[in-house]
Amino acid sequence: MSNESLANLLKEERRFAPPAELAARANVTAEAYEQAKADRLGFWAAQARRLSWASAPTETLDWSNPPFAKWFADGKLNVAYNCVDRHVENGLGDRVALHFEGEPGDTRSITYAELLGEVSRAANALTELGVQAGDRVAIYMPMIPETVVAMLACARIGAPHSVVFGGFSADALATRIQDADARVVITADGGYRRGKPSALKPAVDEALTRPGTESVRSVLVVRRTGQETAWTKGRDVWWHDLVRRQSDQHTPQAFDAEHPLFILYTSGTTGKPKGILHTTGGYLTQVSYTHHAVFDLKPESDVYWCTADVGWVTGHSYIVYGPLSNGATEVLYEGTPDTPHQGRWWEIVQKYGVTILYTAPTAIRACMKWGDDIPAKFDLSSLRLLGSVGEPINPEAWVWYRKHIGGDTTPVVDTWWQTETGAIMISPLPGVTDTKPGSAQVPLPGIAATVVDDDANEVPDGAGGYLVLTEPWPSMLRTIWGDDQRYLDTYWSRFKNRYFAGDGAKKDDDGDIWLLGRVDDVMLVSGHNISTTEVESALVSHPKVAEAAVVGATDPQTTQAICAFVILRQEAAAAEAKVEAASADAEGDLVEELRAHVAKQLGPIAKPKRILPVAELPKTRSGKIMRRLLRDVAENRALGDVTTLTDSSVMELIQSRLPAASSED
Ligand code: ATP
Ligand code: MG
Repeated sequence: MSNESLANLLKEERRFAPPAELAARANVTAEAYEQAKADRLGFWAAQARRLSWASAPTETLDWSNPPFAKWFADGKLNVAYNCVDRHVENGLGDRVALHFEGEPGDTRSITYAELLGEVSRAANALTELGVQAGDRVAIYMPMIPETVVAMLACARIGAPHSVVFGGFSADALATRIQDADARVVITADGGYRRGKPSALKPAVDEALTRPGTESVRSVLVVRRTGQETAWTKGRDVWWHDLVRRQSDQHTPQAFDAEHPLFILYTSGTTGKPKGILHTTGGYLTQVSYTHHAVFDLKPESDVYWCTADVGWVTGHSYIVYGPLSNGATEVLYEGTPDTPHQGRWWEIVQKYGVTILYTAPTAIRACMKWGDDIPAKFDLSSLRLLGSVGEPINPEAWVWYRKHIGGDTTPVVDTWWQTETGAIMISPLPGVTDTKPGSAQVPLPGIAATVVDDDANEVPDGAGGYLVLTEPWPSMLRTIWGDDQRYLDTYWSRFKNRYFAGDGAKKDDDGDIWLLGRVDDVMLVSGHNISTTEVESALVSHPKVAEAAVVGATDPQTTQAICAFVILRQEAAAAEAKVEAASADAEGDLVEELRAHVAKQLGPIAKPKRILPVAELPKTRSGKIMRRLLRDVAENRALGDVTTLTDSSVMELIQSRLPAASSED
């Protein structure tokens, strides 16, 4: 498919200049690109000076053994000191670090001074449990302040954490404990989810019956819900017993810049999750800089909210380490966006006067589906900047986000990055870039990214290919935990000396980058490469469609046939349900309308062979569409790895509807 399709999607020439007021006061101006271009390493060395080093680095990058990078290798620092202590020392102890909003409506605001006390106590508690620098700690928690405290306490004593998303099963937890050889698990009795307490501790108990988890000597348990909790004497200890009685004084020790900070597993969208290792100095430098630059954070006045779960890299980098290293005031919300009502998020924005909101396309599309009238009931005028991460954001969803959440004035920054990159890599800068709905646009200052063809040649503007990173960056993964070979094979073998991200991308005529989905998902239809993202965006641009997932299924005539699964917007879905009850033909009418719409937007070659309206799509726990499972279904195969799937009943529902879809053809 040619660049015409993009032009079609962009036919209204939608571009938004930075608001004048924001541009005038922006943290980062166009000059940063020039500086970084003139001296990339000098630029990063300057950004490292944002941090407080116990011993300042004299080296920037050591790339003598690629692709194993060392950044700021002779520097020493403490991450928790940078995120907490230094703000208190700078007289900001009374500033709120976290506004915690529990799902049932309980709240706590925690200042930096209070956070320092909590982190110090927790660090002392972990030390009492025998945790030493280098020991791994698994964290399996709901979204509560103690989770942030636990991560910072680990960082403070140099014990790498492995946060496991609280929605995962005992199996997933056990594998991650085994893989990291964790010594302590920090958990809670449970958390609140969809209006009720949801237990966590039983999964820990079960995980610890599995072989290979004997390394765990202690389980530290936060009381959150007060539910009955089974107890293993000698192993389990309550947070309120152990942590509470510790001193709130703790002297942070400085660690080498390359000391491991955490292990974190990828989302599992494309296969078995990979345990990504991040280290200290380079990681903190880049998360701190990007949070400052991309979100234009003014710590004295902004109220920042990232809705991700701390179980994902977005939570690590843009709830914990980025914002706190910058002294931000932020919201931490425990629950789901629709509990107890579909306006809960907007109520929170109004309540705390949130100025910067960072969320994922899946959430934006869910809000689109629920209807414009819901956010309209709340005062969202405090918002001045919106961000998106996790998947390509369909232009329609981008425009909806800006209009209905951003009051038609806020910039939207679409940020491309991965667990592996540790921090944002490609994104507009809100005070500099004219934003384009649906495009992540430009590599940040100091980042070198481009799009190449099969032979590693850079593609010209207007062409598509593979997204690669051509220079090492400070927050890059250092390896896959315990598996250097997989690190080499996965990221560094496809193209020589280039990091292969696994994502397809395209450059438009201005040289701006558009993400086109996973390389594995690109479809081949009658000799044409067609991106799933483009067909999905075309479907979502139809007023009746809120969300779409597109896959290529093997087809004898066309190599692959395009199959689309669509979620309709609320009103359309209601109308459809009535119609469906009346006649199957009417469903056919809507399907025909959508097929024609795609053909009109992208050309006849991109017209889906099948379109199936569904109530839900299979998603990872981090909210990304798992196309590979839909492809398995469309090709009648057994499903691949489903361990990170949110809800397996979704697949059953879709499978049960498929025969009806085949009769469509
Ligand atoms: P796995 O690697 O296990 O398959 P995953 O890639 O979904 O899982 P993450 O590291 O959480 O795990 O996600 C990174 C991926 O998310 C990117 O490679 C890209 O495909 C997608 N992504 C993230 N942000 C964006 C964005 N702004 N635009 C387009 N795609 C994005
Ligand atoms: Mg990935």
